Amino acid sequence: MTVLRIIRMGHPTLRKVAEPYPVEKIGTPEFRQMVADLKETMYAANGIGLAAPQVNLGWQVAVIEIPETPTRYGEVPALPFAAYINPKITVLEDDRAGYWEGCLSVPGMMGYVERPQKIQVDYVDEGGNQKSLIAEGFTATVFQHEFDHLYGTLYVDRIEDPALFMYEEEYRQFHEGDAPELDEA
Ligand code: ZN
Repeated sequence: MTVLRIIRMGHPTLRKVAEPYPVEKIGTPEFRQMVADLKETMYAANGIGLAAPQVNLGWQVAVIEIPETPTRYGEVPALPFAAYINPKITVLEDDRAGYWEGCLSVPGMMGYVERPQKIQVDYVDEGGNQKSLIAEGFTATVFQHEFDHLYGTLYVDRIEDPALFMYEEEYRQFHEGDAPELDEA
């Protein structure tokens, strides 16, 4: 496994729509290497999610793991490590809630973003099986942040009030606790 370099806002790959991953390649050594590298890179960066475009790979693949004892994120349900291939989101309820989001590709910054809080995710798993799940609250926000990366969208695009986009240091000083936080995804 290799820790890959995470590219930052301004790199053109972060603004491109990624290609659907060819399902016939799921399970190949090349595929397993990619997922292992994404996992290793996410762990090394202390992230809870990482999308392939963030390591300059133009595939619709993301990995997510919300830890069992997420002290940094408050009371949120844990989500075991999984890879999500070619995921599609359907919004089930339009009710929105806001989180302070951070991103490994926008280091040192935080921004307040409101997103729908009940979604369905249809995706292909690491075994090549078509899967479907329903996510709510914090988990729904994590999925939307991560899968936005597969379509060239960054959380900064979704900040409605530019006054709520700031350096992490000033966020900690003046705004921490205003709303729940989703750091480093
Ligand atoms: Zn991100």
